Amino acid sequence: MPAVCVSIGSNLGDRSANLRFAIEKIRKLADGRINVSSVYESEAWGYHSDNPFYNVAAIFESETDPESLLDRLQNIEREAGSGSHRDKEGNYTDRILDIDIIFIGDKVINGRRLTVPHPRMTERDFVLVPVSELSPEWRHPLTGLTVTEMLRQIK
Ligand code: ADP
Ligand code: MG
Repeated sequence: MPAVCVSIGSNLGDRSANLRFAIEKIRKLADGRINVSSVYESEAWGYHSDNPFYNVAAIFESETDPESLLDRLQNIEREAGSGSHRDKEGNYTDRILDIDIIFIGDKVINGRRLTVPHPRMTERDFVLVPVSELSPEWRHPLTGLTVTEMLRQIK
């Protein structure tokens, strides 16, 4: 079974509770077996906000097909009360819960709804730092770089 890595973020409401909610829901999808990183706090990325994010990474094994997995993760976002993450102009906005698929083993997906590995993972310390706690040796299937190497490149 491929290892699925997700990045979970929140910058609205009770951020710790929102992350816990997502982790418990994902734990159920993963038959109870999930590894979760420590919490990383960072400023909003790609837009201005006064509300900093809490982020964690989580890794679990899954045979669910990628699009169905995205559906389930988006359902969890909605259950937490998270609406659209973009404003009318298409810019990022604050969010109760954002769950991104970072990688699924060494699968490469370029679909309409889903790009895997996540295209912006290499630029985001709030993704790479938590992921490096869980899976420092994972290698990006397109660049051949490990998580540790990617992290060194943005520092
Ligand atoms: P971002 O996750 O880029 O910070 P959003 O959460 O607003 O921004 O983006 C959500 C959209 O991204 C969803 O409609 C989803 O279809 C698409 N998407 C593409 N690739 C992925 C991925 N690997 N994980 C999660 N969503 C993805
Ligand atoms: Mg997202």
